[in-house]
Amino acid sequence: MAAEFQHGKVYLIGAGPGDPGLMTLKGRDLIEQADCLVYDALASPAMLGWLKPGCEKIYVGKRSGNHALPQKGINELLVECARKYPCTVRLKGGDPYVFGRGGEEALFLNEAGVPFEIVPGVTSAIAGPAYAGIPVTHRDCCSQFTVFTGHEGAHKAESSLDISGIAAAQGTKVMLMGMSRLRETMQALVQAGQGDDTPAAAIQWATTGRQKCVTATVGTLADAVEQAGIASPAVVVLGDVVNLASCLDWRSRLPLSGQRVVVTRTREQASDLVSQLAALGADVMELPTIRIADPTDKRDFAEAVVDAPHYDWLIFSSPNGVKRFFQAFFAVYEDIREIGGARIAAVGPGTAAELKKIGLMVDVMPARAVAEELVAEFDRRGDEFGGVANVTMLWVHGEQARRVIYDELMKRQAIVDECLAYSTVPETEDATGAQARLREEGADIITFTSSSTVRHFMAMNLPLPENCRIASIGPVTTATLAEYGLKPDVEAAAHTIPSLVEAIVSMQK
Ligand code: SAH
Repeated sequence: MAAEFQHGKVYLIGAGPGDPGLMTLKGRDLIEQADCLVYDALASPAMLGWLKPGCEKIYVGKRSGNHALPQKGINELLVECARKYPCTVRLKGGDPYVFGRGGEEALFLNEAGVPFEIVPGVTSAIAGPAYAGIPVTHRDCCSQFTVFTGHEGAHKAESSLDISGIAAAQGTKVMLMGMSRLRETMQALVQAGQGDDTPAAAIQWATTGRQKCVTATVGTLADAVEQAGIASPAVVVLGDVVNLASCLDWRSRLPLSGQRVVVTRTREQASDLVSQLAALGADVMELPTIRIADPTDKRDFAEAVVDAPHYDWLIFSSPNGVKRFFQAFFAVYEDIREIGGARIAAVGPGTAAELKKIGLMVDVMPARAVAEELVAEFDRRGDEFGGVANVTMLWVHGEQARRVIYDELMKRQAIVDECLAYSTVPETEDATGAQARLREEGADIITFTSSSTVRHFMAMNLPLPENCRIASIGPVTTATLAEYGLKPDVEAAAHTIPSLVEAIVSMQK
C-alpha cells in the first residue's frame, strides 16, 4: 500500500486576518506553486488570484445556508489531496495553530504518513486590535497578555472555559470566537472579579475594508456591540490598552475608510484597482461583470501573431490585447527582436504600461485614451513617419472593440489587418459573494473601468443602490453610462487606474 502512496506535501498556511498584505512571503510563494488549495471563508479572495492557472480550488467553509465540511471530512480530504497533488496548500485564517484546528489537521496528516509543513500567519488576536489602534501590550499598562476562546458554537462545553483564571490574570485579555456568548462571558468575568469598568473593545472583520470597532467597558460591551450591529467574526480586547485606541486608531483616518466601493473589472485586471482602494481604507467589493476569454477564432489569432513581424505598425487598443498578443508571440518566438522594426501605437497609458513591461516603448499615443484621438494623432504627426497611406498596420484588439481605428485608418489608405486577441464574456461566478452583498447591503461607490463593464453590469440586473455614487474611468465609459440614463458623479482626469482612484478620493472632500 505504501508503494502506491504518492507523497505530495501539504502546507498548512496562515492567511493572516484578512488584509492580503499580511500574508507572509513564504506563504505567498507556496500559494503561487500550489496544485491544490483547500480554503475557507476567512481567506481573502485576493489570495485566490495568486494561484497558478489550473490549480484545483476546494472550498470547505460555510456557505450561506450550508454547513461547512466537518473537521473529519477536511482531515481526510487533505490526505486525499496529498495522494493526488505534489503541493497542496491548506489555507487557514490568521495563524493555523491559534484556535484554527491546524493542530488536529497536522496530527491527522502525521498519522497518515503525509509530509507537511507549517507556515505561521499573523493572528487576528494581535493584528485585529493593532488595526483598531490597540497595542496588545504597552509598557505603561501591562506586561502580559492572555488569548482565550469564547467557545462560540453550541457543540462546545461551556465549562471548559477557565473564567476565574482569566479574570484573575494580569494584563490584556483577547477573546476569539466569543460573540455568540458575549453577554454571558462578560457577566461571568465580572462575577469572577474582573472590574466591570475595565476598558473593552470589539473589532469585527479586522484588517479588512469592512472593519468595524466599538469601545466600551466590560460592563457595557455587550450592549455597545448590539447597538453597533457587530457580530462574528470579531476579536474582543479587555484591558487598559483599549484606551490607546482614541489616539492610535490610524485606520479610520484613511481617506476611504468605511466606503464600500464596487469594482466591476475582470478578476484578472482588478488587482491594481482593488489594492489601491484597499490601501486607502476602502471596503472593496469585487464584483467582476466580465471575464477575458480566448478569441472565437484561435487559429486566426495565432496566424496573425505569427505574421506580426511583417507589419510597419502594430496598434494596441488595450492592456489585455498586449498581454494576450505577447503570450501567443512568445509561444512561437523566443526573442523579442523577432517582432522586427514595426512602430508601435497604443490607445492609452494603461496599454503603453503593459508594453513597457516587455521593454517596448510606444511611438504614438494620444493624450486622451480614445480611438478617435489615436487617429487624430496619426493625422497630426503623420509626416514624422511618412504618413499612413499604403502603410501596413496590424490592429490588435478585443472582439468587442469599436471599429473606429479600422474604419478611419482604412479611409486614410492604410492597409489594416486585424488581430482579434480575446473576447469578453459575462462573468457568471460570484466567487466572493459580492453580488449577494450588493443586493443585501448596498454600496457607496461603484466604479466602471470600460464600456463593457457598464453593459455587463446592467445585464446582471443587480439593483443600483440608492445614493450609490458612480465613478467612470473616462469619456467613452461615461457615454455608455448615459445610454442607460446614468451620469457619473466623478470621471477620472486621465484614463488610468491611479487617476480613477484620485477622482474617488477627491469626492470625499
Ligand atoms: N486562526 C485564527 C483564529 C481562528 S478562530 C487566527 O489566528 O486569527 C476564528 C475567530 O478568529 C473568529 O471567531 C474571530 O474571533 C477571530 N477572527 C479571525 N479573523 C478575524 C478578523 N478579520 N476580524 C475579527 N476577528 C477575526
